[in-house]
Amino acid sequence: MRTGLMGGTFDPIHIGHLIAAEAAMEEAGLEEVWFIPTNTPPHKPQPGADGSRRRAMAAAAVADRPGFRVEALELERGGVSYTIDTVIALQEREPDREFHWIVGTDMMNDLPNWRRIEELAERISFICLGRHGEESEEADLPDYLRRKIVPARMTPIGVSSTDIRERKRSGRSIRYLVPQAVLDYIEGNGLYES
Ligand code: ATP
Repeated sequence: MRTGLMGGTFDPIHIGHLIAAEAAMEEAGLEEVWFIPTNTPPHKPQPGADGSRRRAMAAAAVADRPGFRVEALELERGGVSYTIDTVIALQEREPDREFHWIVGTDMMNDLPNWRRIEELAERISFICLGRHGEESEEADLPDYLRRKIVPARMTPIGVSSTDIRERKRSGRSIRYLVPQAVLDYIEGNGLYES
């Protein structure tokens, strides 16, 4: 079964993540997409909301979409979350699935810096979401990686979790930037307020 994996801090999950997952599913013929909240990201500050809340928001966001689900193994494992460890664990647990890692084009040029990237590229391919014609962005990738990149198109959505946290902190609306169930969770728990 072709399964997409989307890692992220999801602090909070937003429509950019969901539209990217939907596009990856359609363009790359995936049957499922699993959202994997990071515990401690290797190259980013520690997330603001704790893991159980980021997991709950992601679960609320995908509850009504068959084929989307949250896989919390990085939170359960603890420590710094390296994609290679996650992929090895999932391939051992689910040998019949074919996994593909979903990334936005903003992350693509960072791929060579990922831990044990050559081994990772032997195990999976990368579905890279961008606008049509963004091939130039992969110009700097080494051959072993370029071969494992599957470009996919999505309608560009210029939203980020950083933007959502800042809007919330300054009392501006985040309605429609996150699903209603996520908005309800954020407001119900007083997240991202100053
Ligand atoms: P932050 O603003 O806190 O850095 P973020 O919005 O970039 O967060 P992450 O959880 O770090 O979100 O991203 C997880 C994955 O989702 C990455 O592969 C990233 O490229 C992708 N992604 C995030 N926002 C978008 C977007 N608006 N469109 C397409 N892909 C996105």
